Amino acid sequence: MKLLNLILKKLTDEIKLTYFALILSALNFILFHYPFYDFVFNNLDCKSLNGITIISSLVVTMLIANAFVFYLIVYLMRTVGRILLVVFFTINSIAVYFINTYHIIVDEGMIGNVFNTNYAETSSFFSLKILLYLFFMGIIPSIYIIKAKIKKVAVKRFLITSSAALLFIIIMIFANAGNWLWIDKYSGQLGGLAMPWSYSVNIPRFYIQKHKQNRKEILLPDAKIKDRQKAVVVLVIGESARKQNFSLYGYHKNTNPLLSKTENVFHFDATSCATYTTAGVKCILEHTSSNELYEILPNYLYRNKVEVVWRTSNWGEPPIHIEHYQSHDYLKQLCEGEECDYDEILLNGLKDQILASSQNKILLILHTSTSHGPTYSKKYPPHFETFKPVCNSVELSKCTQEELINAYDNTIVYTDYILHRIIESLKELNEYQSTMIFVSDHGESLGEKNLYMHGMPMSIAPKEQYEIPFIVWVSDGSRKLKAFDHLSQGHVFHSVLNFLSIESPVYNEELNIFE
Ligand SMILES: [Zn+2]
Repeated sequence: MKLLNLILKKLTDEIKLTYFALILSALNFILFHYPFYDFVFNNLDCKSLNGITIISSLVVTMLIANAFVFYLIVYLMRTVGRILLVVFFTINSIAVYFINTYHIIVDEGMIGNVFNTNYAETSSFFSLKILLYLFFMGIIPSIYIIKAKIKKVAVKRFLITSSAALLFIIIMIFANAGNWLWIDKYSGQLGGLAMPWSYSVNIPRFYIQKHKQNRKEILLPDAKIKDRQKAVVVLVIGESARKQNFSLYGYHKNTNPLLSKTENVFHFDATSCATYTTAGVKCILEHTSSNELYEILPNYLYRNKVEVVWRTSNWGEPPIHIEHYQSHDYLKQLCEGEECDYDEILLNGLKDQILASSQNKILLILHTSTSHGPTYSKKYPPHFETFKPVCNSVELSKCTQEELINAYDNTIVYTDYILHRIIESLKELNEYQSTMIFVSDHGESLGEKNLYMHGMPMSIAPKEQYEIPFIVWVSDGSRKLKAFDHLSQGHVFHSVLNFLSIESPVYNEELNIFE
């Protein structure tokens, strides 16, 4: 009791700003940097002298550098500075919850995922554990930040302290020159785990990037429709579907009971260009892999008189400028029945939509969300629960690997059914040459190497996150497929142009899968 009183008294006493900054820096270190040092320990030889030097320098530099920044913030901005620190601790607590639970790294791509996530997805992450993180690591330190009584600092004192801290940091950086290579090699991961700098740096970076992408797309040269043959392409963009869980690709569980029995279905090995949705979808739709925003497939074909329909239960696509952009909410109004709560909603009235068109060439793009985690078991109707038991928790590491994979595999069974239904609809359109192309935006980790979901930087991503299915069906007597060992998402654009007999200066025969 006495001890507690003493601590309380100490905490409510007036305190020097230097100490206040050091206490917060220590708290920031203890509460939020377990994942950071876990990564460091896993990627360093901790028993070597060099390893010990790096780790101790990182700890000391981090403590002093953060204390220095906190000191500056509070000295220069006073109340606003304290509010900023409260914001840091609050966001840190949530970020560390996600890092610990999903083994993610808060880099620019992950920030993109967060800002492109709509409420439905966010609420599926909600759990009691996140509230505990928020309370103990965010709110309690925040109370101290607001309540602490800080002594006034004279300008001279401020200048001396700041210069000393800055000098110390510079000396540490140069003393560690021999370790720059190691730090540079892992800078993405280290930066993504250092709080609060991961999101403070990557949120502005994300917006700068987004701003760049929002500039006007670069128009492609005009295209010409070569013939009057009626033709339709249904391009299905998969979400987090990974190749290895499709029995078409040799998976030991039968996740493709329908497609495996359908004629004219072909599958290719393929890799995605990235491990997150916005980048993967962009790669599927562009004519060349580029950081620039060129006119994407639907916009290009729509401008050149092809009937284009975009139906989506997902998000994160580049800006689409077409007449028939059909969002989930729009489709929901027209749909009745249990299946409207799942991705089958994208198929509602599909055939009629094609038949209603006055154009000879039609491109239908279905952007699905079927295998999006973490709640795989909520992505398919109950009667598709083929493999049991399934994981129902949003904290993936709480489920057994088997439960998690069962739930995921059921989403693949449901995907199999959806693709099968599309093919059945297309088969009824006798007047049309038709094809269905299914490509995933990226893969998914299901606990391998203790990783979950997706979004790892491509340079260190495991193959589960980028080995994707690329499945093609062609109608009888329409086209044959070339032999390919391996495809990329870049093959979609040119294959669609070829199938619809569209002549374009940007067309690349090497990236066309049709004979
Ligand atoms: Zn995705």
